[in-house]
Amino acid sequence: MFRLYRDTPVHVDTRRRFDLDLARRSAHDMSVWQKACCRRLRLLILLGLAVASAILPASAQQDATNLQVVATFSILADFARNVGGDQVEVTTLVGPNGDVHVYTPTTADAEAIRNARLVIVNGLGLEGWLPRLVKSSGSNVTTVVATRGIAPRKVAAGEILSRDRGMGSVDPHAWQSVANAEIYVANIRDAMVSADPANAATYRANTSAYLAKLETLDRDVRKVLAPIPVERRKVISTHNAFGYFAAAYDITFVAPQGVSTETEPRARDVATIIAQIKKEKIPAVFLENISDPRLMLQVASETGAAIGGTLHSDSLTPKDGEAPSYIEMIRHNVRTIASALME
Ligand SMILES: [Zn+2]
Repeated sequence: MFRLYRDTPVHVDTRRRFDLDLARRSAHDMSVWQKACCRRLRLLILLGLAVASAILPASAQQDATNLQVVATFSILADFARNVGGDQVEVTTLVGPNGDVHVYTPTTADAEAIRNARLVIVNGLGLEGWLPRLVKSSGSNVTTVVATRGIAPRKVAAGEILSRDRGMGSVDPHAWQSVANAEIYVANIRDAMVSADPANAATYRANTSAYLAKLETLDRDVRKVLAPIPVERRKVISTHNAFGYFAAAYDITFVAPQGVSTETEPRARDVATIIAQIKKEKIPAVFLENISDPRLMLQVASETGAAIGGTLHSDSLTPKDGEAPSYIEMIRHNVRTIASALME
């Protein structure tokens, strides 16, 4: 079921570097502590360390007894952390702002897979580079396909600009419908419960709480979009990543690039989009955090359409960005689309 894609190095794992920095800093704190002779000072430092450890991210507090989980990209990692909470240690292969379609695994990724009990994947042909990575790691780790049970969306004739490309292929971006995200989360819960039955109650409770948030999110998306007339709900994005979102929330998305970012958009597809924007008076085009913005800037300048902002399709942002979690990503995308279409 997996296809191999052309390899393009795009991955920078800032989180692991952050962890190393924390480890170095913590070693420095220990040497200060050892030199301190005053008892009161020592007590103060201990208190300080306790506070610091309480505010450090879970990933910085390595605990070998936690369930070791690898997620192929940042959105799956966010689901896994919400389900697993403090009981899991999640390693993300394609980190924030990375492109999961085209990725060259590193030796550190193979090591993470060797140490993992579960590898959570999207499936639907998204991670073409993964089978080779798992094989090279020599691990027989359990692979969890988070889209199990989701009805796959086939790319339809109307959304293909060059008709010879991709028609009938499966769209892997199933997480863009919040109802599908709920299925991802349930699959991840079931996998964690099987792998670590001692903490089953925790995984189930965490999942119930998170599913309630996703149900609220789904209602909120519909509320935000409700005032926009359906004939105005037309959006141009860079790659065809919003098919499930479009189907769930009644929006038309057009993209010059296919369901994978692996191939460059063709000149004639860009020309088709430019003509369509002019003919249908489409008000805004959107950039994506994982794609080169130049194409959309060119389309905007040739059509007079406004740049509606940046949408997040396949990747979260770092913590200080506008979409550091799945819920924040969907809220950001809907706000961005609604404000561009309502103007
Ligand atoms: Zn994509």
